Amino acid sequence: MSLQMLRRRDVKAPLRPVRPQPDTHTTLAKIDSRTPRPAPLRFPVSEETRAFYRRFYPGTSTIEWNDWRWQMRTRIRSLAELERIFRLSQDERSAVAGHQGALPVGITPYYASLMGLTDAREPLRRTHIMTGDEYVRLPGEDDDPLAEDDHSVVPGLVHRYPDRVLFLTTGTCSTYCRYCTRARVVGNPGGEYQFSTRQWEQALGYLEAHTEIRDVLLSGGDPLTLGDDKLDWLLGRLRAIPHIEFVRIGSKMPAVTPQRVTKALVQILKKHHPLWMSLHFTHPRELTPEVTEATARLADAGIPLGSQTVLLKGINDSAAVMVPLMHGLLKRRVRPYYLYQCDPIRGSGHFRTNVQKGLEIIQALRGHTTGYATPIFAVDAPGGGGKIQLAPDPVVGRDGDDLLLRNFEGKVYRYPDPGGQLGRDKAATG
Ligand code: SF4
Repeated sequence: MSLQMLRRRDVKAPLRPVRPQPDTHTTLAKIDSRTPRPAPLRFPVSEETRAFYRRFYPGTSTIEWNDWRWQMRTRIRSLAELERIFRLSQDERSAVAGHQGALPVGITPYYASLMGLTDAREPLRRTHIMTGDEYVRLPGEDDDPLAEDDHSVVPGLVHRYPDRVLFLTTGTCSTYCRYCTRARVVGNPGGEYQFSTRQWEQALGYLEAHTEIRDVLLSGGDPLTLGDDKLDWLLGRLRAIPHIEFVRIGSKMPAVTPQRVTKALVQILKKHHPLWMSLHFTHPRELTPEVTEATARLADAGIPLGSQTVLLKGINDSAAVMVPLMHGLLKRRVRPYYLYQCDPIRGSGHFRTNVQKGLEIIQALRGHTTGYATPIFAVDAPGGGGKIQLAPDPVVGRDGDDLLLRNFEGKVYRYPDPGGQLGRDKAATG
């Protein structure tokens, strides 16, 4: 670190805690060759999950089952493996058999243990085992609907908003969601998109040069599929850039492979505060004792946790599903943050609700439950327009100096608002 950088750090010292300095003598190549850390020995295993692995993975020890690397190595990736565990429908079987190209099947044994083995309509299973609908392309669908590639300033770095960037660190996830916005990128190591540490260096060079960037979101793929040492190195490099105030990690692993949240990982993350995490949850079935342990470890490490959920037709598009999910997250110290309208990726028509459905769910949550349990509903604008927040409109109209507002029970109340204009265009109906 240069003297100039040290001086800049002095000026910004009150804004951030002392950070570990990156070890400039440790190259990524050296990190790659290190021996992996041993798996943690203690992690809860729910009764349902234990019965599953005794049946389908006999001889597997609890230590192996709780080793996230074992979960990654043992992922269900082929039709034969799926058929060994699930009773597939004809539709699922032919869709998997005919699959080519990006977004392979990938399900950790742990996540499979939460899925319906015989019912093809079971929600979690629908999100991960492809069906023929995936091959139907509807108008307006695109491989890159958010135009991330157009906003890539160096490979893997998307700079769309002035002060923040999306850093795609890897193309690997522990499970592959069929509705993934980055279906074109993830799970396809031999494909068009390559994620390499050389690419990281390019991204870091860009971040160092662009002092307007204060917020970096690490995503992918799933950054927590990276080994501890690599993650530590990357976070260290980012935290050493003086103008970067805020680093976030977006991950689905705490939901689908909670064993990844080892005590060693938590110790590393703690070193790089302020660090926030956005955790991807879909359905209350995901809220297991394992997830409770994983989120507790992260929250106890002082990492603010927010959730993001994609609204999916027939999977979580009702208040009956969404309320227990949001309540369950809050109980686990995960603040419901975003509910996303499903992006129009190619073959996503069977997952997409109309936008009204999201508003109805927000309406069902608002006022009927804790404010913290109500996420922001947003559409990510196709073409790269960014997130657009939507909310039920409470303005009924105007009566002279009174603004007419509808509350969560549908009752209309007056608010004295002399000189205001809001609601005037609705006065005829007010
Ligand atoms: S975990 Fe995230 S990046 Fe990976 S497949 Fe699912 S939605 Fe896509």
